[in-house]
Amino acid sequence: MSDCLFCKILNKEIPSTKVYEDDDVYGFVDISPMAKEHYLFIHKEHTQNVNESSSDQITSVYNAIKLFTQANDLSKDGFRVVTNQGKNGGQTVFHTHFHVLGGEQLKAFGS
Ligand code: 5GP
Ligand code: ZN
Repeated sequence: MSDCLFCKILNKEIPSTKVYEDDDVYGFVDISPMAKEHYLFIHKEHTQNVNESSSDQITSVYNAIKLFTQANDLSKDGFRVVTNQGKNGGQTVFHTHFHVLGGEQLKAFGS
């Protein structure tokens, strides 16, 4: 049993809407979308943040994002990938995750 929210999602203790899965990576819809399309991509092995993750883990997650976005209009129309780390980064869930945002014109970063 894990206290981590995203590990609970992986263990199906908390429901989620899956958009992608392979042996290492899970992608699902963000519960509080910041864009018309907002997904979260996580590695199945728990790490707290991106700087604690191995290069292999980051590569697996990014490759999944690449496959997912190429399988729909996101790759054609464009999208944004964001990862927040720690307090100043605004991280609220401490299982490394990459936000994938798109489906509409996003505001210029920082505005
Ligand atoms: P962070 O703020 O750590 O970068 O991102 C955490 C994200 O997790 C937020 O965008 C938030 O909406 C999302 N989130 C929090 N709880 C849940 C949940 O129970 N289910 C899903 N699908 N997303 C969640
Ligand atoms: Zn976790």
